Amino acid sequence: MAATMTTPAAGYQKLSKRMREVSLLSTISCVLEWDQNTYMPAGALAYRADQLAHLGGRSHRLFTAGAVGELLSECEGYGFGPNTAEGANVREWRHHYERAKKLPPSFVVKFERMKALAYEAWREARAQSKFKLFKPHLVKIVNMVRQKADYFGYETSPYDALLEAYEPGARAERITQLLAELRPAIVALLDQVRERSDSAPEGVCQGTVAAQQAFNQRVAEAIGFDFKAGRIDTTTHPFCNTLGAGDCRLTTRYREGDFTESLYSILHEAGHGLYEQGLPPEHFGTPAGAAVSMGIHESQSRLWENHVGRSRAFWEYWHPIACEYFPQLKNVSAEQLYAKVNRVRPSFIRVDADQVTYDLHIMLRFDMEQKLVSRQLEVADIPGYWNEQFQQMTGLKILKDSDGCLQDVHWSFGGIGYFPTYTLGNLNAAQLMQTARKENPALDADLRQGRYQALLTWLRQRVHQEGSRYRSRELMEKVTGESTNIRHHLELLQARIVS
Ligand code: ZN
Repeated sequence: MAATMTTPAAGYQKLSKRMREVSLLSTISCVLEWDQNTYMPAGALAYRADQLAHLGGRSHRLFTAGAVGELLSECEGYGFGPNTAEGANVREWRHHYERAKKLPPSFVVKFERMKALAYEAWREARAQSKFKLFKPHLVKIVNMVRQKADYFGYETSPYDALLEAYEPGARAERITQLLAELRPAIVALLDQVRERSDSAPEGVCQGTVAAQQAFNQRVAEAIGFDFKAGRIDTTTHPFCNTLGAGDCRLTTRYREGDFTESLYSILHEAGHGLYEQGLPPEHFGTPAGAAVSMGIHESQSRLWENHVGRSRAFWEYWHPIACEYFPQLKNVSAEQLYAKVNRVRPSFIRVDADQVTYDLHIMLRFDMEQKLVSRQLEVADIPGYWNEQFQQMTGLKILKDSDGCLQDVHWSFGGIGYFPTYTLGNLNAAQLMQTARKENPALDADLRQGRYQALLTWLRQRVHQEGSRYRSRELMEKVTGESTNIRHHLELLQARIVS
């Protein structure tokens, strides 16, 4: 521990300087990607792909240079404590360095360029609901992702090599086990609620885009999102991306028929944003100032979206305010709105799914991704396999690919391995919420009055401020006393949905 109390050794300073350059380059790429997602005109695509490929290649070369390996070895000799900022940085940099070195620079450049082009093809394919427009791009992506898994190497499953990028230390085997426990419990819950319907009349949630934007902004501000260090724009697929220190961008999409879709997507993305804004700014650009994993990131978004936003307490407080933006809401009660946003019904689109059926969407994607990576499934089989499996699972027949395999952005950026982190996020969110409640008996009274500060402060202290000092498993054990499991998620669902 002593090493952290003195001036950091010269080797660490040199290494930090190099990592700052890498971080500058990668955040510049984020700005370009955000622009591509929001405002970039179509004609700019080819050059944008060149820009992103160039930056990706440079950042990879800087990060994997031999000098970095030497500096890492030197720093490992300093004996930094394992959970100090320096110790965590050296540990995580080493981990990422060893992985990055396995990828040839030419592969990295090719992958970056391909991602930029595939995103546009996906967007067009989704808009027209034509899988064939995306298919040639996806073939290239899947081939490169398979190659990537081979470059990284793995012990049992090539999927592990990809999952590692989003949930370090996680294994497909453990995810399979969690999902196998979860599935029968979800099916049982679904049977209990299948016959229930809510009493909110159709069309009661209509709202103009302008009204939705104003209301969403007010809610995001109320939960603590700092608009001096962030903003909301419009995209095909909602996301949250940090473009630099003090710059967190949220995006969503709007449907005038139902304001709750953009509201819950903003609560979700603002949950990510609160995490990003709560990371220690003095460590920005290093692991000590970065999120632990996507399973923890998604726990923050799902916590605000579901445990806060879909609660009875939320609508008790927000119903009269929402009536200012959507006057027809005066015709329904807070209780009716609460019932509406908790309606359990299998549906096509993952991001709009209710809390019970949500994880079924993940199970489908996880199964398909593993089969794609291990070559048991080919890209040409995707729509057919998706539609068949989805119908078996939910009873719903998919009539257009935009309601099926084209709905999600992830495969267009090569993000195979990402989806299971949503379920981990659901489980972690429930587990964290139970602990927050146990440690703060006034929490629910606060939420009923639209006071979110105590909950946010708790999350800041217990999760956000830690950056990546702990791996996700250690962090969950440290904060909640247990590793990630399905119990709390099911208890909370049972209480909310069935009671
Ligand atoms: Zn998310």
